[in-house]
Amino acid sequence: MSGPILEVTDLTQHFPVNRRDVVHAVDGVTFSIQRGQTLGLVGESGCGKSSCARSIIRVYDPTGGRIVLDGEEITHMSQKELQPRRKKMQMIFQDPYASLNARMTVRDIIAEPLLAHHVVKSREEANDYVYPMLERVGLTREHAGRYAHEFSGGQRQRVGIARALVLRPELVICDEPISALDVSIQAQVVNLLRDYQQEQGLAYLFIAHDLSMVRYVSDLVGVMYLGQLVELCAAEEIYAHPLHPYTQGLLSSIPVANPKLAREKEQSGIEGDLPSPVNPPSGCRFHTRCPFAKEVCSQEAPCMKEVSPGHQTACHLY
Ligand code: SF4
Repeated sequence: MSGPILEVTDLTQHFPVNRRDVVHAVDGVTFSIQRGQTLGLVGESGCGKSSCARSIIRVYDPTGGRIVLDGEEITHMSQKELQPRRKKMQMIFQDPYASLNARMTVRDIIAEPLLAHHVVKSREEANDYVYPMLERVGLTREHAGRYAHEFSGGQRQRVGIARALVLRPELVICDEPISALDVSIQAQVVNLLRDYQQEQGLAYLFIAHDLSMVRYVSDLVGVMYLGQLVELCAAEEIYAHPLHPYTQGLLSSIPVANPKLAREKEQSGIEGDLPSPVNPPSGCRFHTRCPFAKEVCSQEAPCMKEVSPGHQTACHLY
């Protein structure tokens, strides 16, 4: 099948907090992911990237917009209708401590999706998938009988990855999969995901809170601010020519080893706190923190537009 594996159009996810107030977690987000491609989705905590992921995987019912998976609209499918399609789209969670069932052995954790999707009929049959998968993620079949608490954080995340990949999905949503891991382990997990992608041609939506984490995995990068996508383009382009002032701020806050460069960067970080998504600022949502804000910015919301081929941003400066 040709065409993108995932198309998200004008996705909106609001959560009522009481009778009057609504959290605008995701507001009008549009992007698509081609087969075998990785889209890195980046933004501060609370910017809506995880809500976006959970709406796509249909943990939440989207308030508005459209989600098309492998050419089929799934936006409002019931859980029963979604069940056979879930095989195509799996998720790797941020917290390898919380996302694995402490009472199950690693073998059972990885076998569970195979049994749920009737890929195998018995636990014995599942071993034919579980053992190669364990080895593929850098563990061994001797690990199969152990429980999650017997592993390090990096090993647990490998188990989480094995569970997500064992169904051979076409799209994996990686929700901050390396944020909870030691820096020394992060590169190993990223390399594992990237190597597996090269072998199997699957696509990733890779969510992270800073641009340094998605640099080596992404073909495209999208930057979110307060529920909205503010910039989207090829990965190398965003690091070389960031256009949106928020993206520029995010890039300048990436730590650097050189002390002189670090001092220069400190002066250009993003000031102020993320405003409340219950009552987002009028016009451009970034205007309360933007060093380039002009009068129009608080009055009119800028739309995403293509500023150069394949490079979109939402800012009145362009
Ligand atoms: Fe800054 Fe205005 Fe651009 Fe928003 S639209 S990022 S406030 S310059």
